[in-house]
Amino acid sequence: VAAKPRQKPAGPVSRPPVVTIMGHVDHGKTTLLDAIRKARVVDTEHGGITQHIGAYQVSVEDPTNAGTMRKITFLDTPGHEAFSAMRARGAQVTDIAVLVVAADDGIMPQTIEAINHIKAAGVPMIVAVNKIDKDGANPTRVLTQLTEYDVMPEAYGGDVQTVELSAKEGLGLDDLLEKIILVTDAEIEPKADPSAPATGWVIEAEIDKGRGVVTTILVDQGTVKMGDSVVAGTTFGRIKAMVDDMGQRVKDAPPAFPVVILGLNGVPNAGDRFEVAKNEKAARQIAEERASDIKEDQMGSRRV
Ligand code: GDP
Repeated sequence: VAAKPRQKPAGPVSRPPVVTIMGHVDHGKTTLLDAIRKARVVDTEHGGITQHIGAYQVSVEDPTNAGTMRKITFLDTPGHEAFSAMRARGAQVTDIAVLVVAADDGIMPQTIEAINHIKAAGVPMIVAVNKIDKDGANPTRVLTQLTEYDVMPEAYGGDVQTVELSAKEGLGLDDLLEKIILVTDAEIEPKADPSAPATGWVIEAEIDKGRGVVTTILVDQGTVKMGDSVVAGTTFGRIKAMVDDMGQRVKDAPPAFPVVILGLNGVPNAGDRFEVAKNEKAARQIAEERASDIKEDQMGSRRV
């Protein structure tokens, strides 16, 4: 009897990096996130029908391999509050942090906070010196200021990549995307196994009048599929619809591909762990166990 051809064992393969943008208020985080997204979707047939779902993915040409496209996932929840709230829950979502500093203002209190958060998370940082179109812009001063906080730009012999930008005028965006790919390859090489049991993180969740609980998830291992029974924090349910950041229905979500799912029985928290269960009964059981663990923890801490 001829041996059956054995399936190649699935294993980890490269996945897109997940990038968070941080920095002082008004330094241009939202403008930058919008500019990157617009620059990338304008040519597509669905251009313009973008949805804010808390994360999005873009395709860029690989700077080291012309003609090959690479993907980058951006968390579209600017501000370090979301970042630290997630980290406080143990969520390790981000691979790279982009620190936005306005070239006219320079380093401000929340810039320093962001630097501290990024260092605590231990992720590589890319500095985006923004607003270089402005009259008072002084990018050199920004780089000098950074060294005072132990952030050493390459130009000063360190290893932190820096980019000059005008998010408003769309200048320097390609340079930033290229550096993200280079840092990804040099420092993280993110991998995931698309055929592993699916897990991930809740990015954001809310109740929508028409659709019920709307939850954005980012898969870190495995592939989430339509109809899967899932647990998110202490909520559970069966996925009855799945939509990407362009509002398109999708059947499955591989690692680092942000999607919105419908079908949970409650609103989970940003940073909650997400997993696929064997069936809905198992999902309910896991959710209930998590809820009772949390209760026990709370009672325990009250006794102390
Ligand atoms: P955030 O608070 O960091 O998200 O900052 P925003 O993206 O909301 O930007 C704050 C203000 O700075 C807005 O009025 C933007 O239009 C402006 N802005 C952002 N990027 C640039 C830029 O590159 N050049 C100029 N001149 N203004 C910018």
